[in-house]
Amino acid sequence: MQGDVAVVGGGPAGAVAALELARRGAAVTLFERSDYGGLRMGETLPPAVNPLLRALGVWDRFVASGPVPSYQTASAWGGPEVAERSFVFSPHGHGWHTDRAGFDRMLADAAAEAGADVRRGVAVRGVRRVPGGFAVDADAPVRAAVVVDATGRAARIARSLGARRERLDRLVCVARVFARPPGTPPGDTFLEAVPDGWWYASPLPAGRRLVARFADARFAAATGLATAAGWSAALASAPRSRELAAGTPIGPVRVVSAASHRLTPVSGPGWLAVGDAALAVDPLSSGGAAFAMESGRRAVAGPEEDYRAFVRSAAVEYRAVRREVYGWERRFAGNAFWRDRAEDPGPAAG
Ligand SMILES: Cc1cc2nc3c(=O)[nH]c(=O)nc-3n(C[C@H](O)[C@H](O)[C@H](O)COP(=O)(O)OP(=O)(O)OC[C@H]3O[C@@H](n4cnc5c(N)ncnc54)[C@H](O)[C@@H]3O)c2cc1C
Repeated sequence: MQGDVAVVGGGPAGAVAALELARRGAAVTLFERSDYGGLRMGETLPPAVNPLLRALGVWDRFVASGPVPSYQTASAWGGPEVAERSFVFSPHGHGWHTDRAGFDRMLADAAAEAGADVRRGVAVRGVRRVPGGFAVDADAPVRAAVVVDATGRAARIARSLGARRERLDRLVCVARVFARPPGTPPGDTFLEAVPDGWWYASPLPAGRRLVARFADARFAAATGLATAAGWSAALASAPRSRELAAGTPIGPVRVVSAASHRLTPVSGPGWLAVGDAALAVDPLSSGGAAFAMESGRRAVAGPEEDYRAFVRSAAVEYRAVRREVYGWERRFAGNAFWRDRAEDPGPAAG
């Protein structure tokens, strides 16, 4: 990339892109609308992030941030009995449960230390083409030769420049955080399939646990899943997950989009999209943050055609894995939630 670069969005994709650009000596400004306060979803990191974090030179500060080790995923998926998949055979060791806001902040700090101008609490309202690049509409206007869209699932910048999202579904996550009762063990990742979606539980640092229901947006709206009463009623019919929601709830029920999409194209004259903006995957894979960081790295490394090929092949692989994993659950195969995913024909050629 040549000239000044504006990276919009300081999640893992944008922070890593800014970090790598700064290390290469580029003049880079990273805009992040938040101050990394508050809860962020996406706490479970698979073992595959370990070599990535080492390669990025942030391993020591990651470990110092106090993530909870994750040794396995247990699931009632495809049948009522619980099966366990251990990371013991992973060449990268175990995975982690993190405080995701703290994780993202740690990456932004690393970018700032490498020389990026990191502007927290600054939302970019839009970008406009001007001779030689873009005018970035933020707190103070900034000119940039190149813009990186790292705004997450919204892909706000790329879409304003003409890219479009090919949406696969309207998955939403409806979650609550609990303070675990004193003396109870943290547990590990747990998944439970139910007729219209699935439940997920994960330990969080500081004695907390996240319990979440994933469902299609229409189902969530129709059943009042986003209300405390609707969420608890749904939980009551999940035989395994309801045991994990013990303790005191912290904060309200939260709803976030977890929809899958692929952006077309992922780059254009003077811009490119990274992370969820380029390819947003089902959280079932726990692979979103790793893809986001890897895409930030590869986008900066170039060349552009290699980066496009990387995203294209990740998208094809993702669709195949999604089809396979949802296909393992046959008990609810007559239900549209499961059928649509298990029978996904895959991406169109091209
Ligand atoms: C419910 C849920 C659970 C998930 N669980 C996991 C998991 O366990 N493990 C995992 O690996 N992945 C998980 N994922 C996916 C993972 O969180 C994402 O893939 C990852 O966060 C993508 O990183 P990103 O940097 O592309 O986008 P994001 O993390 O979404 O970051 C985008 C950033 O851009 C900022 N931003 C947006 N618009 C603007 C603007 N206009 N101006 C300035 N800043 C802006 C936002 O504040 C945000 O910081 C989950 C996702 C969801 C929805």
